[in-house]
Amino acid sequence: MRKLIQGIIDFRKTRTEESRALFEKLAHGQSPEVLFIGCSDSRVVPEHFASANPGEIFILRNVGNLIPPAASSDRDSSAPAAVEFSVLSLKVSDIIVCGHSECGAMEALAHGVETLSCPHLKSWLKYGEKSLDKIREGLSLNPSLSEHNQISQVNVLQQMEHVVSYPFIRERLQKKELRIHGWWLDIARADVYCYEPGPNQFILIDEQEAKRILERMG
Ligand SMILES: [Zn+2]
Repeated sequence: MRKLIQGIIDFRKTRTEESRALFEKLAHGQSPEVLFIGCSDSRVVPEHFASANPGEIFILRNVGNLIPPAASSDRDSSAPAAVEFSVLSLKVSDIIVCGHSECGAMEALAHGVETLSCPHLKSWLKYGEKSLDKIREGLSLNPSLSEHNQISQVNVLQQMEHVVSYPFIRERLQKKELRIHGWWLDIARADVYCYEPGPNQFILIDEQEAKRILERMG
């Protein structure tokens, strides 16, 4: 906490004219192009690894980067509210679902949520259970990874499915007004991967892969 307070002082001292101008402009409104759905984990900081500025990414972070599917009877409306607002009001053009290595939520799923002493967490993680089931049924995108990292990768695809389960998302995807991407952050290497359906794998976003992604976007 002390470090954060000092950080505010440092931020005030080192603000550039450019940064002041950006915030003055942002006070009039935001128009981010991207909704980023990631884990609350303190190591997952999209502005940092994607070199982004304030105003560029609308962010939804929660434990395990989970989205309750549209059909959930007891669905938690916080995550769907952020998806709705960013798509319907801010009209983002892209949604990124980003998982990460060494995710505590995925480790909890792997170890069995019944061992957890936090009731809300136990309840929330049910939205990730299908990802665990798929791994236990033998699905893996990269068998060389540890089990929780394999769950985390499959979970990105599972949560993309949950996002697409909302009719307003499906409609916009069909009209090509919206795109959805699956990313995965390798914490130890600070490398970001993008899911490619062709090879059915997460591919490192290096210059070559970045070019492929941009070309596909047109
Ligand atoms: Zn996590």
